This record gives sequence, C-alpha cells and structure tokens, in this order.
Amino acid sequence: MAGRLLVVSGPSGSGKSSIVRELIERLGLEFSVSATTRLPRPGERHGVHYNFISRRDFEAMIENDELLEWAIYNNRYYGTPAAPIEETLEDRRDILLEIEIQGARQVRERKPDAIMYFIAPPSLEELEKRLRRRGDTSDEDIEDRLEIAESEIAEAPELFDHIIINDNLDQAVSELEGLITAR
Ligand code: ADP
Ligand code: 5GP
Repeated sequence: MAGRLLVVSGPSGSGKSSIVRELIERLGLEFSVSATTRLPRPGERHGVHYNFISRRDFEAMIENDELLEWAIYNNRYYGTPAAPIEETLEDRRDILLEIEIQGARQVRERKPDAIMYFIAPPSLEELEKRLRRRGDTSDEDIEDRLEIAESEIAEAPELFDHIIINDNLDQAVSELEGLITAR
C-alpha cells in the first residue's frame, strides 16, 4: 500500500502542536519539516522542528515550485517542501503535516487523496482562554485569531475528513491515533 499524506490543521491555539507532538511519539510517524522565515524559539533545532531560512531563499523555493503549499502567517512565510513528501510516499511510508488552514486548502486541491484532520477547540471561549494562557499573543492578535477561528470552524466540515474536538488533550490524541491506525 502506498504511504498516506496525513494533514493536521485547525485554528491557532486549538492544540495542533500539543497533539502532534504526542502523536509522533506514540506512533513514530514521519513528520514533514516545514520551511519558515520566522526565528527559532529556544530549544528549536534547524532541520528538526523547521528549516529556518531567509526570506530570499523562501521566495526562491516558491519561484522554483519546490513547495507543496505555503502561506504567510503572522507576517512570516511557512511552507511544506514537496520533495521529502514524494520520497516518503514512494517509500510507502506515511507522513504527517502540521499546517495552518490556508495551506490545508492548497493540499486539498493538489493532493485529493490526503487525509485531513481538523483540530477544533471545545468553544471559542475556551480557545480565547488557551491563547491567553499560552501568553505569546497580544490582545489585538487574540481578537483577530478568534475571528479567523470562527470562520475556519464554519468551513471545516466541507474541507476536512475528520473533526477532532480537543477538550481533554489525552482523549484528543487517542481519538486521532485511533483514526490513523484504523485506516
Ligand atoms: P496550536 O498549535 O494549535 O496553536 P497549541 O498546541 O500551542 O495550539 O495549544 C495552545 C495552548 O493550549 C497551549 O498553551 C497548550 O498547552 C494548551 N492546550 C492544548 N490542548 C489543551 C487541552 N486539551 N486543554 C487545555 N489546554 C490545552
Ligand atoms: P509556529 O510559528 O507557532 O510554529 O506556527 C505558526 C502556524 O504555522 C501554525 O498554525 C503551524 O501549524 C503553521 N505551519 C507550520 N508549518 C507550516 C507549513 O509548512 N505550511 C503552513 N501553511 N503552515 C505551517
């Protein structure tokens, strides 16, 4: 059987990275290392969490059509290099992408066989609490992200194959794990 392209997406603060971190650990899945022009946070390693590259190099990748998808988020570029994806799938291994929603839309268009999972917060109120608790987002940004989240949630049933509500983190991980291993 060919490898599967597994896409995890959802609003900012819904818990994508918390869930994916745990899932990779449990299932030992291949993770797609994105390219980005943002700076590394403490503890993040080049080639492991992201490929941290310059704006110029990123724009060259766009120009040369080397990205499966890309988006501007918070004034920074983020994108999925296409070649490692193709190599992994040809090797008949699954690969997991954790990306925001503009990118998920592009994957849907270009890879109709991708299996797409939407991580939803239990409510917008809870999403707001989590964004505030995480503490890396300004008040103004939080207002914007909540508004964007509302429209993303409305669009999700059409775009995604599965919707996972991240109320309890452990349960959300198990639910996604079950969906991935069952197919
Ligand atoms: P995303 O990657 O989607 O932006 P994060 O994984 O960074 O979201 O999660 C946003 C914040 O919410 C983090 O501070 C995280 O620790 C917290 N969080 C994630 N899942 C839960 C949950 N089920 N219950 C409570 N807090 C959570
Ligand atoms: P962060 O800067 O917090 O690591 O990521 C910001 C947002 O960019 C998150 O929603 C994350 O899922 C998303 N992201 C990470 N890599 C990619 C990518 O390659 N493409 C797209 N479209 N989004 C990405």
